[in-house]
Amino acid sequence: MEKTEAIIIRQVDFSETSRVVTFYTHEFGKVPLLAKGAKRLKGPFESGLDLLSVCDIVFIRKSSGSLGILTESRLKKRFQNTHQELIRLYGGYYLAELLDGLNEEFDPHPGLYKAALQALVRLDDEASLPRLAIILFELALLREIGHLPNFETCLKCERSTQEGAPFAYWVSQGGLLCRRCQTRDYENNRIGLEAVRWLRQLSEPEAIEPERLDEKVLREMNNVTTSAVSYDLGRRPKTLRYLQTLSR
Ligand SMILES: [Zn+2]
Repeated sequence: MEKTEAIIIRQVDFSETSRVVTFYTHEFGKVPLLAKGAKRLKGPFESGLDLLSVCDIVFIRKSSGSLGILTESRLKKRFQNTHQELIRLYGGYYLAELLDGLNEEFDPHPGLYKAALQALVRLDDEASLPRLAIILFELALLREIGHLPNFETCLKCERSTQEGAPFAYWVSQGGLLCRRCQTRDYENNRIGLEAVRWLRQLSEPEAIEPERLDEKVLREMNNVTTSAVSYDLGRRPKTLRYLQTLSR
């Protein structure tokens, strides 16, 4: 028996009455579990197993390769996303898709769990910027899985990124190119000094976030973080299309 706090990041039907629920847990990382009877109206998990809900769970861990079994789930917080802004709802789905896609099972990252929870709280809070909440989560995720881009120096000439804007993001190498080192292909994808400065600052754990950010800066930062995340995932996240439509 194992016990932990977890966020529900995926649900798949398993049989007439059961479901496989994937949790992102505080102590074990990603864990898919069989929730027997979860589809029954008066099933054993009365508090419900909704996407993005935070629960205290108990489960039986099976030997490698077979699915563990969920025995208890107590709802702690439900992110209802009852607000008007759809971007807050899809932001949550995007977060769940990334947690699922970029983590191995039973590979714990308590720091990432904390960042995910923080992002959900921010998305739920009408006073906070939803797009900034998403960028902060993407940066925390990249940092935790060891793929944070280099925002300090130009990848080719190693000149500091504190000067010499505009920069371009070199996706496959995970870093920036200064103006002198860019080829023409990068012309439409430029990143200004301010966006680079914020990317550098917000990549740090416990970074102090700005209360507001210029639309252009947000867009430039967003281009970098979503490119980095998509590259790691090996594809564009499915929910990204909705998010981008909503951001416009
Ligand atoms: Zn350079």
